[in-house]
Amino acid sequence: MSLEVPASQQVRCAVHPAQPAGGTCSRCGSFICADCATSVPGLGARLYCAACAARSDVNYLEALRQRYWGRRDEWAWVVAGVTLLLCVGAAAAVAQWGLRASKQALFPLVLLLPVPVGVAFFLGQRWARHALLATPLVMAVVADVLHRDGRFLFFLCAVPGLLTALRIHRDVRNQLFFRLPVSAGSLKLLWDLRFNNPMARQALRFGFSSVFMPLLAPIAWVCGVLALMRVDLKATPPIGRRGQAIAGLVLGIVSPLLWGFVLVPVLDRWLSKMVYK
Ligand SMILES: [Zn+2]
Ligand SMILES: [Zn+2]
Repeated sequence: MSLEVPASQQVRCAVHPAQPAGGTCSRCGSFICADCATSVPGLGARLYCAACAARSDVNYLEALRQRYWGRRDEWAWVVAGVTLLLCVGAAAAVAQWGLRASKQALFPLVLLLPVPVGVAFFLGQRWARHALLATPLVMAVVADVLHRDGRFLFFLCAVPGLLTALRIHRDVRNQLFFRLPVSAGSLKLLWDLRFNNPMARQALRFGFSSVFMPLLAPIAWVCGVLALMRVDLKATPPIGRRGQAIAGLVLGIVSPLLWGFVLVPVLDRWLSKMVYK
């Protein structure tokens, strides 16, 4: 008796019948050879056949990339709105004080400096992403040249603009609008932020809020329980954030107890001392 399996009876790849199968697809279960076995970013060590790996419900990070590719994000609209406000501000200032050749009369025109950058940003011109970083500083320098007394104030005003521009520059969703290459890791972070069990984030938010407003605690309980029920790490894509759901639930349970047993008696004692002193 031989334990060797005859070549004709070996399990074969569903796509390449000449090749022996090394495993099965994690989605459809068909036999796959080493050539067909495909791993998908964001799904750990699971292997898929080529057809399943190309599906948008399996390769969810690639689907996310395509969904946002070249599509305007919230930041594009914010930049457009600020650009419009600056135009209105400059027009109002010119209407009020008129245009004269003096340095101080030219001051409102500083507001128009970022307009070309804002328009180009909204239209998806990549140079505008970098120009946006320089714009607050350029505005501060020009304002300083026109009006020598306000240097400290101008550069102080540039700081929030610069920080916001930096935040926009690093934003993955915004990079997708500009059709820039984004790593699978960054896409995973974006996915986690927007689509990975958002109920767990709500649970944590209401849990924290209930520390200050205990009436919100029941919302934290409901969100926490719903979020915990949704957690399924084996799903495609995996649904996580168990920790956040538990943290929200615990905060929602602890905060009414804290108010009931500690804060209310302390406040009560303090108030009665104030009143009957
Ligand atoms: Zn498959
Ligand atoms: Zn194959």
